[in-house]
Amino acid sequence: MRGAHAKGVITYGGGRCYGDAALDDGGQTILTRNLNRILSFDSVTGQVVCDAGVDFADLLERFLPEGFCFPVSAATASVTVGGAFANDIHSKNHFAIGSFGHHVLWIDLMLASGEVVRASRDENTDIFRASLGGIGLTGTVLRVCFRVLRVPFGAADASYQRIADLDDMINTIDAARTTHDFIFGWVDAMARDGKMGRGILELGR
Ligand SMILES: Cc1cc2nc3c(=O)[nH]c(=O)nc-3n(C[C@H](O)[C@H](O)[C@H](O)COP(=O)(O)OP(=O)(O)OC[C@H]3O[C@@H](n4cnc5c(N)ncnc54)[C@H](O)[C@@H]3O)c2cc1C
Repeated sequence: MRGAHAKGVITYGGGRCYGDAALDDGGQTILTRNLNRILSFDSVTGQVVCDAGVDFADLLERFLPEGFCFPVSAATASVTVGGAFANDIHSKNHFAIGSFGHHVLWIDLMLASGEVVRASRDENTDIFRASLGGIGLTGTVLRVCFRVLRVPFGAADASYQRIADLDDMINTIDAARTTHDFIFGWVDAMARDGKMGRGILELGR
């Protein structure tokens, strides 16, 4: 960090963001994929401490056989934990469980000065809040402590419903909030008039 290029430094995790947020034209890029250790796990509290370059495929492989799963993930398992924090990612259970940041207890962050600080909701609060969804602009997340949840088994019950129009979509989503853990609506954006908002709803438990 101290020897950084004048055009700056940005951190690159799994490279799965939709735009070029992890690229620094003319500057330097820190790759985190070799920061890939799961450092500790408490099976009573579900607390995990891992390096920021661990991705969700690594987490599945390690924790699902032990009966745990991360509460929030993107629709690809190649996202890193650091990238998940930096974009405060959401899943299809957002209405029930919130975003990834809701399950993070603390981070270790390397600032532009090279200093490493621990930040949480109680300690260095401003840094924590600015870094959660801060797209890497406050420094490089080195380690993350977050909670995984106990799951009954490594399978999901999925069903699909045909949706007639926008009212049907909204009403069916509302009703499903009490019966399902995951809700995902696909809307046919070309449908007009009475069919506007038609689509398919995927429901999961
Ligand atoms: C197929 C697909 C499906 C997706 N589905 C969802 C979804 O359902 N929900 C959702 O919310 N998002 C989704 N995304 C987007 C993705 O989850 C986010 O963009 C996520 O941040 C990517 O993480 P990454 O590790 O690949 O980070 P990168 O793409 O490498 O970087 C993304 C940003 O995070 C910063 N960053 C990365 N690592 C660190 C670090 N260690 N310290 C500080 N900053 C860091 C980078 O500087 C950059 O600004 C999806 C993307 C794809 C390609």
